[in-house]
Amino acid sequence: MPRRRNQPHDVFKVIDMCGGDRTKCWPFKGELNDKGLPYFQVAGKKHVVYRLVYVLVRDDIPDSAVLRHTCDNGADPGRRRGWVCCNPWHLEPGTHEQNMQDMRDRDRHGMPAHVVRAIRKLGEQGRKQEDIAELYGISRQAVGDIINGVTHEHVD
Ligand SMILES: [Zn+2]
Repeated sequence: MPRRRNQPHDVFKVIDMCGGDRTKCWPFKGELNDKGLPYFQVAGKKHVVYRLVYVLVRDDIPDSAVLRHTCDNGADPGRRRGWVCCNPWHLEPGTHEQNMQDMRDRDRHGMPAHVVRAIRKLGEQGRKQEDIAELYGISRQAVGDIINGVTHEHVD
């Protein structure tokens, strides 16, 4: 018997909808690709999971628009976090420039001071930056910048 092909609404099987609670983040349960994006295949075509969910639940996405996460759990290429929010109510269409600015803002403000201190401490103890990066799911560059005070210089 041929394997049944995915239908668009099957995408809801790969996310945790939290009982449909719009206020909560709905994590993608599968594995992210190397760009940190959640993909789902429908009829041989790959879709970004949260874009598909947005179209199914809310509206078409204008051609030139990207979807911006209004929560802090969007896809983030250098970060490879374990999951990405796919709640369509946490998404707004915007321009690519706005999206890049969102990411920069999150990088600047997104890390709690106690994490910054912990990373610096591990650095002082001689732990490899690669290991620290792995531990916190951020890039080695980001770890180096924190340890050298290039970023988060306000945290003492
Ligand atoms: Zn969210």
